[in-house]
Amino acid sequence: MVLSVRQLLAAVWVLFGWLVVSYAWAGTVDWQVHNQRLNVAEHVYYVQEPPAGLSFAEVRQLPEQTWTENTADTVSLGYGSDVYWFRLSVVSRTPTIVPTFLEIAYAVLDDVQAYVVQGQSVAGQYTMGDKKPFYDRPINHRNFVIPLELWPGETTTVYLRVDTTSSMQVPLTLWSEDAFYTSDQSVNIFEGVYYGIFLVMILYNLFVYMAMGERSFLYYVCYITAMPLFMASLRGTGFQYLWPEATWWNDQAIIVFLNLTMCFGAVFTVRFLSIRATSTPVMYRVSLPLTVLSGLMALAGLVLPYSGLIVPTIIMAFVYCVLMLVFGCIRWYQKHPAARFYTVAWVFWLSGGVILGLSKFTLLPRNFFTENATQIGSALGVILLSIALADRLNKEKRAAFLAQQRLLREERKVRLAQEKSLHVQQEANAQLEARVQERTRDLEKLNAQLLELSATDGLTSLKNRAHFDTAFQSAVVHGFRFEEPVSLLVLDIDHFKKFNDTYGHLVGDDCLKMVASTIRQHVTRPQDLAARYGGEEFVILLPNTPEEGALRVAERIRAEVENTGFRVSGETVHLTVSIGVCTMLPTEADATKELFRLADEALYEAKGDGRNRVVPWRASGQPVDNPPLTPA
Ligand code: GH3
Ligand code: MG
Ligand code: MG
Repeated sequence: MVLSVRQLLAAVWVLFGWLVVSYAWAGTVDWQVHNQRLNVAEHVYYVQEPPAGLSFAEVRQLPEQTWTENTADTVSLGYGSDVYWFRLSVVSRTPTIVPTFLEIAYAVLDDVQAYVVQGQSVAGQYTMGDKKPFYDRPINHRNFVIPLELWPGETTTVYLRVDTTSSMQVPLTLWSEDAFYTSDQSVNIFEGVYYGIFLVMILYNLFVYMAMGERSFLYYVCYITAMPLFMASLRGTGFQYLWPEATWWNDQAIIVFLNLTMCFGAVFTVRFLSIRATSTPVMYRVSLPLTVLSGLMALAGLVLPYSGLIVPTIIMAFVYCVLMLVFGCIRWYQKHPAARFYTVAWVFWLSGGVILGLSKFTLLPRNFFTENATQIGSALGVILLSIALADRLNKEKRAAFLAQQRLLREERKVRLAQEKSLHVQQEANAQLEARVQERTRDLEKLNAQLLELSATDGLTSLKNRAHFDTAFQSAVVHGFRFEEPVSLLVLDIDHFKKFNDTYGHLVGDDCLKMVASTIRQHVTRPQDLAARYGGEEFVILLPNTPEEGALRVAERIRAEVENTGFRVSGETVHLTVSIGVCTMLPTEADATKELFRLADEALYEAKGDGRNRVVPWRASGQPVDNPPLTPA
C-alpha cells in the first residue's frame, strides 16, 4: 500500500490535532458511546477555600495553577474543618445528547453545592448534603447524584463546593443513566437482603429472649439493632427512609449508633464469652471502661456536635475492634466453647472492612463483592453469632440437664443407702425385741417355776402350807359368795413317831412321799387341793363338795393307805392314817379358822376313837347320818 502525500499530510495533521487536543484536555473526562460507569477521581482538580470564603464566580476566575490535580484514584483529603472546591470536566464523544449522573458515593458530607457549567453558562445549580433536607436533592437517592446532560462534543464542567465535618471524601463516579439505574436495582436488592437478614435475626433473637429469659439474647438484640442502624446512617439509607427531614440528627446518628454498637457489643461479648471479674479479671477490667465510655459517648451524641465526637469515636472503634478480637482469641485459647464462633464472626466483620480498604487502594479489584464486603461480612458474622448463641444455650441446657440427672442419681443413691441402713436398724431392733421377748419368756418361766417352787413342798411335791392358806381363803370366800359348801380334810399318820424311831427318819421321809402320792391319786378335780400342812399332817381342800363326797374321798384315801404295803429292808410294813372331815356352808367370808378348827377337832376325835378312821365333825348330840352343814 502506497500512501499519497495528501494522505500522509492528513495523517500528520490528525496526529498533531490529537496531540494538541490531548494536551489541551489533559484534565477532562472523555465520555464515549460505550461508557457505562467511569471512576473520574483522576480527573478531579481541587482548591481549598480560604477562611474569607469564595463565591462561585470567584472560583471560576481562579488561575489554573491554583488548582491541584488529584492523582490518586479516589478523592480523599482527610479530616478537618476546611472547605474545598472540586472541578471536573467531561467531554462527550457521542453523536447524541447523553443523560448521565455524577454520583458522590459518600452520603455523610454535610453540604455539597454543585454548579454545572456548559459552554459559558451555568446549566444547573444544586444543593445537597446530609445537613440539608433529603428532598432538596435533585435525585432521591441515598448518595448525592447530580444529573448531567452531555452534549455531543461539548465540555461540561462541574464545580463542587464541599463543606463537611466528617472526612473529606468525594468518591466520584460518572454513570450513564441506564447503567446507574440498573446498578442501583441490584444495590437496592442487596441492601434489602442485608437489612432483612438483620431484621430476621433481631426478631428471632428477641423471641428467643422472650421465651428463655436468657439475657445474652437481649444484649445481642440490642447489639444487632444498633449495628445496621449505624450502617444505615453511614450509607445514607437512614436519611433516605427513616429521618429524611432530621438534618441535625442525621450526623449525630452515626455517633450514637456506632457508640451503641460498641457499648452493646462489649456487654454482649462479656456475657457471651463468660468474662468475669473473678475468673478473667484483666479482660473484665478492660471491657468495663470501654462499655461505660461508649455508652457515655452515645449519650453525648444526643447533645454535643458531631465534629467534636467523630475522632474519639473512630479511635475508640479501632481500639474496640482490636480488643474484641483479642478477647475472642484469648477465650478461644482458654478453651471457652463459644469463643471459636465469636472469633470467626469477628474475622468476618473485620475482613469485610479490610477487603473494602484493599479495594479502595486498588490492591483488590473493585467489584460488587469487594464494594459490599463490609455488609456481607457483618451479615455472615451476625448469622454465625446467632447460631453460636443458640448452640451455647443448648449446651448450657444440656449441661444443666446432665447435672440435674447426676444430682438425681446421687439423691437416689443416698436414699437407697438410707433405706438400707434403716432396714439394718429395723432388723437389729427386731432381733433385740425377739431376744428381749425370749428373755422375758425365760424369766416368766423361771418366775413361774419359782412361784411353783415357793408354793410346793420340797419333800412330797404337794402344795405347801403357805399356798394352801391362800387357796383356802379364796375357796371360803367363793363358797360364801355363791353359797356353796366347802369341805376340809385334815389327815395325820398314825404313830409315826414310833415308825420313825423304828426305821429311821429317811425311811420315814419315803413313807411321807408314798402317803402324799396316794393322796394325789384321789384328789382329782381341778379345783381340789392337797397340801402338806407340816410334819406328817396333810390337808385336802374340796370346794363345792358336800360332806358325803368329802367323806367318800377321805375313806378312799384311808383305805388305800391301809392296803398299801411299804417295802422297808426286805419286810413289808403298813401304815394307817386318821382323817378329820368338816363340811361347811360359810356364813362369813372369814370362816377359814373355824372350818380348820372343826376339822382338826374331828381328827382329834378319830385319834381318840382308835385311829385309822374317818370322822366327820359333829355338833355334840347330832346323829352321824345327818351332818349339819353349818356348825353350831
Ligand atoms: P399319833 O398317832 O398320836 O399321831 O402318834 P404320833 O407318833 O404320830 O404322834 P405325833 O403325831 O405327835 O408325832 C409326830 C411325829 O411325826 C414326830 C416325828 O417323829 C414325826 N415326824 C414329823 N415330821 C416328820 C418328818 O418330816 N419326817 C419324818 N420321818 N418324821 C416326821
Ligand atoms: Mg402329827
Ligand atoms: Mg401322827
